[in-house]
Amino acid sequence: SVYGRIDAVDDKVDAYIALTRDKAYEAAEAIDKRLAGGEALGDVAGIPMALKDNISTNGIKTTCASKMLENYTPAFDAHVYEKLKEAGAILIGKTNLDEFAMGSSTENSAFKTTKNPWNLDRVSGGSSGGSAAAVAAGEAFFALGSDTGGSIRQPASLCGIVGFKPTYGAVSRYGLVAFGSSFDQIGPFTKDVEDCAIVLNHLYGYDKNDSTSLAVEHGDFKEALNKEIKGMKIGLPKEYFGEGIAPEVKKLVMDGVKVMESLGAHVEETSLPYSEYALPVYYIASSAEASSNLARFDGVRYGYRAKDYEDLNDLYIKSRSEAFGDEVKLRIMLGTYTLSSGYYDAYYNKALKARRLIKQDFEKAFEKYDILISPTSPTTAFKIGERSDDQLAMYMSDICTVPVNIAGIPAISIPCGFSGGLPVGMQIMGKALGEASIIKAAHAFQ
Ligand code: GLN
Repeated sequence: SVYGRIDAVDDKVDAYIALTRDKAYEAAEAIDKRLAGGEALGDVAGIPMALKDNISTNGIKTTCASKMLENYTPAFDAHVYEKLKEAGAILIGKTNLDEFAMGSSTENSAFKTTKNPWNLDRVSGGSSGGSAAAVAAGEAFFALGSDTGGSIRQPASLCGIVGFKPTYGAVSRYGLVAFGSSFDQIGPFTKDVEDCAIVLNHLYGYDKNDSTSLAVEHGDFKEALNKEIKGMKIGLPKEYFGEGIAPEVKKLVMDGVKVMESLGAHVEETSLPYSEYALPVYYIASSAEASSNLARFDGVRYGYRAKDYEDLNDLYIKSRSEAFGDEVKLRIMLGTYTLSSGYYDAYYNKALKARRLIKQDFEKAFEKYDILISPTSPTTAFKIGERSDDQLAMYMSDICTVPVNIAGIPAISIPCGFSGGLPVGMQIMGKALGEASIIKAAHAFQ
């Protein structure tokens, strides 16, 4: 069973924060009964899945890999979990992440560092490193993660599997512990593109509990499988192949592009000039949102509470100081600073204006191209500890993925080869609600 595999390897990989063994066996029995009763169950029934530990699960701890929520048990299910459970998928455990999804290596977890299954001295990527490593190591058939600036695609790339970030609003965020609400999306990690299409079918759809949920029909993503890509127009944004991208990564992605070309696609170099500003825009805007979203963790209503305090203010200060990790504190400080009066126009408002320009770059490109292709991560998995003290190097890990969240468009990362024994991922981006083109191209390539 999948638990046999977990028992055999998870003390080395450290993908899971908690296993839900008893509940999983109960759920499996219930599925058996439904089958025995003659019920026709769908394509995820009985399939073992893992959820990133910032996705709420009723009666099961949801820690966000933070001391703040170490003992927090939600009283409701996230929309995506409810839907998958309904379809018969079986939750086997909650996976590790960077605290509150802030990071690119899963080293910011308050509990443990998830290792890369291909090389245990390397990071699994982040922030959804636990979900990526679990699928890559055969410790789950599929897993869900969240992607605010690359946290599904980058770990998928580093672990050699498929990761998908949906169009903003296409998948309900209800029950996802919020980081940067205007960027966050939930999406799947799978072994291949077909599984990805299958899981996406279960995630998409309108939800009245998410005010940003889109009321659109998504159709069946499996219809985009096994299609020809002859005549498809592919753009290669030159800014995503320049400085900072490791030569071997660039080469493997270009080899992948040549495969697409041999299948009849038209490939052309293009430009997204404002992407140059994507990192500062992302870190200003997402930290501003995070500072507001994380204000609710005050030690009063739920979460960690400091033991000794003098008054209410002291309770807030001590609880937050003791329970948040360094990276989270850094983002809260950055966010409150850029939102404070006197600085608001210079930073936050400026970032929003630049955000619009970055988005317009993409809109213009998609008038000409069906999809855009780039590397997912500028390098293969780096050594554990290598970037822990180098904030900028860590933030650079997301240089190819954050523009997608800024623009709200969908993108996939698929494996396109190995360099030095480590996987390399290729990112395929599509226009808003253009996931079918992405799946079509990714499946044809795979
Ligand atoms: N690495 C980025 C950050 O630290 C993205 C995180 C994410 O997508 N959740 O913010």
